Amino acid sequence: MYFDPRPKTSREDLFDREEEVERIKALRAPITLVLGLRRAGKSSVILVAASEMPHPVVYIDARRFEAEPYLTFKHVAEALGEALAQPMRRFPKLREYLKNVNGISVAGFEVKISWRERGSLVEVLEWLNRWAEENGRKAVVVIDEAQELTKLKGYNLLKLLAYSYDNLRNVYYVMSGSKMGLLKKFLKLEDAGSPLYGRYMEVVELRPFTLEEAKRFLEEGCRQYGVPPPDAEKVYRAVGGLPGWLTYFGYTYVSVRDEEESIRQTVSYAVDLIKQEFAHFLEGKWAAEKRYRVIMEAAAECAAWSELKRAVEASEGRRINDAEITRLLKNLVDYGFLEKRGDLYCPPDPLIAAAFR
Ligand code: ADP
Ligand code: MG
Repeated sequence: MYFDPRPKTSREDLFDREEEVERIKALRAPITLVLGLRRAGKSSVILVAASEMPHPVVYIDARRFEAEPYLTFKHVAEALGEALAQPMRRFPKLREYLKNVNGISVAGFEVKISWRERGSLVEVLEWLNRWAEENGRKAVVVIDEAQELTKLKGYNLLKLLAYSYDNLRNVYYVMSGSKMGLLKKFLKLEDAGSPLYGRYMEVVELRPFTLEEAKRFLEEGCRQYGVPPPDAEKVYRAVGGLPGWLTYFGYTYVSVRDEEESIRQTVSYAVDLIKQEFAHFLEGKWAAEKRYRVIMEAAAECAAWSELKRAVEASEGRRINDAEITRLLKNLVDYGFLEKRGDLYCPPDPLIAAAFR
């Protein structure tokens, strides 16, 4: 059912995105990045691809770390241990391999990785690689919302990834990120001194649905419930093309069967969530909080750099230097609250705009 609000895990529930699923399944490079705004369907596409791969998939949902101010090796070791249960169930022989890792305890399908053994992560990957080699498969490690790992202190994950990229030929990574700027910052792809510099990565970008796609999504989704479809253009104008909001709309619409009311509920739900996400973004940035808000309000209908600068200056009644404005805008773009369209800064989605109107 297209309107099921949870991330999709099987192909029949996923509308379109065939090419994207195939590209993830193909594992064309040691690292595949799946990029897109929140609610573009990254988790869904990855989970569907994973369900169709003939390989063990170690799925780490880094969103669990979203509320943590910083992360240690222990967080990662715990998450990886938990994520190994599922592939071991599917490929029971994996257990025997993983038991060789120093600092790991395997009981049934429960894996605990000691956070005192720093080398255990490399070893887990090496044994996954060996299992894959000897069994003619690949081992796939998914890190969903990988940018959250930027907060990891005292352990160099990039070095580990680079080592794995170069040496563990049967281990593949799929990493998603909704804060694209942050994900790039985390991987330091453009930093010549970084371990991953210059490594090729396959990039799968998930765009919002176009009007045409949104229309088919709503029509086919409604048909699954035997409900006549709404006026798709009107819905699209109000909630935009992000699959997550269209799904929420559809889910509401098939139960209340009232277009206006469903739009109202979707907008109000989305605006609340976006405001919460923005408040979360502002945590620890108290000095610039007012400036970020002024910029978002001034950019709700798109605005040029100079207009945004003027808006901040007007709100404070004094001059602000250019570098500061540029820094604020870059952060908003990195976190996906704004995007650049030519010379203009715009909210990437109509509901983000609505949250600041
Ligand atoms: P992301 O991981 O990018 O934030 P999710 O995969 O969690 O996005 O999707 C957000 C919501 O949209 C979920 O309710 C999911 O079921 C729905 N969804 C996303 N893409 C599709 C799709 N192609 N077909 C049907 N539903 C989708
Ligand atoms: Mg997700």
